[in-house]
Amino acid sequence: MEEAITTTKITALAGGVGAARFLRGLTRAVPAETVTVIGNTGDDSVMYGLHVSPDLDIVSYTLAGIVDTAGWGIAGDTTHALTQIAGYGIDTWFTLKDRDIGTHMARTNWLAEGMTLTQITDHIRTSLGVTARILPMSNEPVRTKIVTLDGVTRDFQEYFVKRRHSEGVAAVTFDGARAASPAPGVMEAIEQADRILVCPSNPVLSIGPILAVPGIRETIARRREDVAAISPIIAGAALKGPAATLLPVVGAEATPTGVAALYRDFCGTMVLDRADAAQASRIEALGVRTLVTQTIMHSPAEAELLAKEILQL
Ligand code: GDP
Ligand code: CA
Repeated sequence: MEEAITTTKITALAGGVGAARFLRGLTRAVPAETVTVIGNTGDDSVMYGLHVSPDLDIVSYTLAGIVDTAGWGIAGDTTHALTQIAGYGIDTWFTLKDRDIGTHMARTNWLAEGMTLTQITDHIRTSLGVTARILPMSNEPVRTKIVTLDGVTRDFQEYFVKRRHSEGVAAVTFDGARAASPAPGVMEAIEQADRILVCPSNPVLSIGPILAVPGIRETIARRREDVAAISPIIAGAALKGPAATLLPVVGAEATPTGVAALYRDFCGTMVLDRADAAQASRIEALGVRTLVTQTIMHSPAEAELLAKEILQL
């Protein structure tokens, strides 16, 4: 017998693909309108003159059911615009497809007209039929920068996409974070949630920027007993991306224990994969409770099961 889930309000911190996969399950497990997503904007950048918010769009497109199988962009999209500008000699290393470009055109224009990223993100997700609320972490620019072992500071997308995160990293910084403030609704979503979930996202690149916005980490820490995080690291590796190589850069081991050590001040429960069951006692020794289960989400149904298990804690 399945226990009834009585949770009424859930707030989730989210990066891109890993988070979106989990959120698709969460919004099947509970009414989507009870879910508020706080999204990372550290990856935002201006590409070909357009303001791109990759993580917010990945979540919106995924919850709208239109995401491409790659996990970002829109399914069935075409590349005419990029082909056209490549013909003008523009280096098109950052792939944006046509319908997706429409989103960035709208966002760029609305920003120029004075709308906030909060208003724009809300307008896009409602227009796409998404009932979960999606909030950018901040309306002020916070820009993730990568300092390489050679001492070069790179814009995030240049490190991540152009150079395929192949360079050694000395440090990760969040430019503008200190002067930024949480976007409207963010603090209330944390304070008023019954449960707070940290999605399986890159702890350094996706959750890091959200926590760097002054006030957010402390406010979540006050809710510590109601916070659960899903480890994006399974058996010492990330399913995709550089999470395992970046954790040591911030002094953490590339294991669920390392993630728990990084999160322990604000996170009361770590959800880790069965493959890492042997680490549960080390995590508990840090003062963090554990849930050991299957955390690889091959399908929305598996993501829904994972969400239900976490909510039944
Ligand atoms: P982005 O898509 O590049 O913004 O990256 P995210 O911040 O979403 O991080 C990707 C992380 O999600 C990687 O560390 C993956 O290991 C993790 N991830 C992706 N899919 C899954 C999954 O099914 N289960 C778990 N536990 N983690 C996942
Ligand atoms: Ca991202």
